[in-house]
Amino acid sequence: MTHIPSVSRAAVVRNFGDPILIEEVPIPSELESGAILTRIEMCSVCGTDVHLWQGSLSTKVELPVILGHEMVGRIVTMGSGPQRDTVGLPLRIGDRITWSHTSCNSCFFCTVAQEPTLCQNARRYMYERMDRFPYLFGGFAEYGYVLPEAGRVRVPDNVSNELASLSSCALRSVMNAIDVLDGIGVTEVVVVQGAGPLGLLATAVAKVSGARRVITIGAPDARLAIAAEFGADETISVEQTSPEERTERVRAATSGRGADIVMEFTGHPQAFNEGLDLIRRGGRYVVVGQLGSGTTTFRPSLIVSKQLRILGSLSGRAKAYWKALDFISMHKDTIPFDHMISRHYRLDEVNTAMDRMKKYAEIKPVIEP
Ligand SMILES: [Zn+2]
Ligand SMILES: [Zn+2]
Repeated sequence: MTHIPSVSRAAVVRNFGDPILIEEVPIPSELESGAILTRIEMCSVCGTDVHLWQGSLSTKVELPVILGHEMVGRIVTMGSGPQRDTVGLPLRIGDRITWSHTSCNSCFFCTVAQEPTLCQNARRYMYERMDRFPYLFGGFAEYGYVLPEAGRVRVPDNVSNELASLSSCALRSVMNAIDVLDGIGVTEVVVVQGAGPLGLLATAVAKVSGARRVITIGAPDARLAIAAEFGADETISVEQTSPEERTERVRAATSGRGADIVMEFTGHPQAFNEGLDLIRRGGRYVVVGQLGSGTTTFRPSLIVSKQLRILGSLSGRAKAYWKALDFISMHKDTIPFDHMISRHYRLDEVNTAMDRMKKYAEIKPVIEP
């Protein structure tokens, strides 16, 4: 039995916008049945971490919290109960896992709507106070607590910690968005709005899914170059084109119709309007990146006249975590996922990592607690 300390170092937000503090947080000495304690090996940094830290998320967050939510951990100890992952694989001490937010399986949204990501009793990592049991809700910490109701997926041996961590948020959100779209047809042209981590990963998944053509719109050029490596047939720089030029480019690639599918990952409210212009009549628009509190105005008659299907995709259920890891495991030798991983930071360098993330100086940095 490995020695388990009584406290874990963790990066804590006590006041929005203030420097993040490295504190000692209790490690529960008793685990609930079905819970797992992990030693966090890595946690990638996400735009949502910046928004939470800055207090600009549209959801209300009660402080203090441990920052970070894209983590991969190695099992240190498990509570009583079945020791299997979400797809039935046996779990052992020392296995690497990623884990999901919880859903209760006994509310309207879980059972009638069958939408566990909307569960009204969901508990979400990074969003719960760190001064109450079981404390270890965030990824920028030495240890992490997997709640009994949380999905957990064993990480395939050929998937690195870097790629496993981004599978637990960025890529699972993309996998969920593909599910929300009901997949992508082989004749369909997909426009991806955004060349951040989600946009890049969506480019790869859309291409592998068989899209006829994938057009990725974003900036800067270095990220668009990665989009091309990930399978984009065409990239369009938002820094070097006007919205009208971009609409023209997409029309030119679609016999004047517009894209069959648009996927939004920018987080800029104004991008929603552009998406409505880029999409063809009868097309599908999945909106994923809009998590801030910003607003925009748009012409609702476009939804009617183009008979659009506008879909929201929030987070991802356990199957999206599994699909994300499976996708990486399957395609890591042909898609250079590592090109989107930027720097590695220690836990006590978290403020540097977050500042650089805020300034868009990083694509996907990782913290090694
Ligand atoms: Zn994230
Ligand atoms: Zn529920």
